Amino acid sequence: MALISIVVPVLNEEEAVPRFFARMAAVQRRLPDHRFQYVFVNDGSTDRTIEVLTSVDKPRNSELVILDLSRNFGKEAALTAGLDHATGDAVIPIDVDLQDPPELIPKMLDAWVAGYEVVVARRASRSSDSWLKRKTAHAFYATHNRIAEPRIPHDVGDFRLMDRKVVDAIRRLPERRRFMKGLFAWVGFRTACVDYVRGTRQTGKTKFSGWKLWNFALDGLTGFSTVPLELAGYLGFVIACLSFVYGAALVALALLGRIDVPGYASMLTVILFLGGLQLLSIGIIGQYLGRAYMESKQRPVYVLRDVLKRSGPVEEAAVARGAGQLDLTKPAGPA
Ligand code: UDP
Ligand code: MG
Repeated sequence: MALISIVVPVLNEEEAVPRFFARMAAVQRRLPDHRFQYVFVNDGSTDRTIEVLTSVDKPRNSELVILDLSRNFGKEAALTAGLDHATGDAVIPIDVDLQDPPELIPKMLDAWVAGYEVVVARRASRSSDSWLKRKTAHAFYATHNRIAEPRIPHDVGDFRLMDRKVVDAIRRLPERRRFMKGLFAWVGFRTACVDYVRGTRQTGKTKFSGWKLWNFALDGLTGFSTVPLELAGYLGFVIACLSFVYGAALVALALLGRIDVPGYASMLTVILFLGGLQLLSIGIIGQYLGRAYMESKQRPVYVLRDVLKRSGPVEEAAVARGAGQLDLTKPAGPA
């Protein structure tokens, strides 16, 4: 009997949790041959999420592990915490807002049983997203896959099934700024794909602002490519070649006495253009330098306040308080 870990990061999702469990209970009934473990990661919620988690009716015959982070560390860190504590033979990260349909899990398990080590869920339609989100997401995937290695598949989120081997490989990656989609792709393994139509959020609202998404995209690009850093060098080379030709032409014209007006407009244009280009290049170096600096501090990816466990059937509502108070668990060191 395989143990399936469902990893769910939550930030202010008090209304979503009971709905999520109701849907999962139905899915679990279709899968009597599997045991389920839920690993919820409370990512610094300020509402009643943690109370709901400790008292909600969870599906029968499942174990519930609640990781309470000491503050909001962001979804990537929360997922990392979840993967660190999930003990299943297969692990499935999923959003609690039901945008990732739990009904897809049986299909994923079929592919896993058939020998695939990773089963990704691909959004066949992004119609639930706004026009702007669709366009920017597309631009991100296109840019990323052009300059970064390995490619990340279009329209595939964190919702996927991973074999234990895959989870262990991901946990061994030492970086602190964890762009999960990139890390998932980096480890490789035999991958199957199932399509689904992404619905809209059932309750609450999205936790990702435009600015957060922009920085998230930069994390992805800088984390898996150094092409932007090299760009300044190539651009400099091209501009230097052009300047040489232009300079030679100017000298020739001057010798022929053909230069009469000192070119104020062209001079200013060139100065401003090159100034902008230099600032841009410094900015790109800054993006990498800042990330390298933060990485060099080696701070843990997350801090746990508490690990709560509820095991056994629904009736057994007792909450066992586990683990130390401020568990500075080293998150992703060599296993
Ligand atoms: N989430 C989290 N920490 C954060 C932001 C989000 O744990 O800092 C969780 C959130 O509770 C949800 C999942 O990550 O379960 C996806 O978030 P959301 O639905 O807001 O993202 P979207 O679907 O809009 O991309
Ligand atoms: Mg969502």
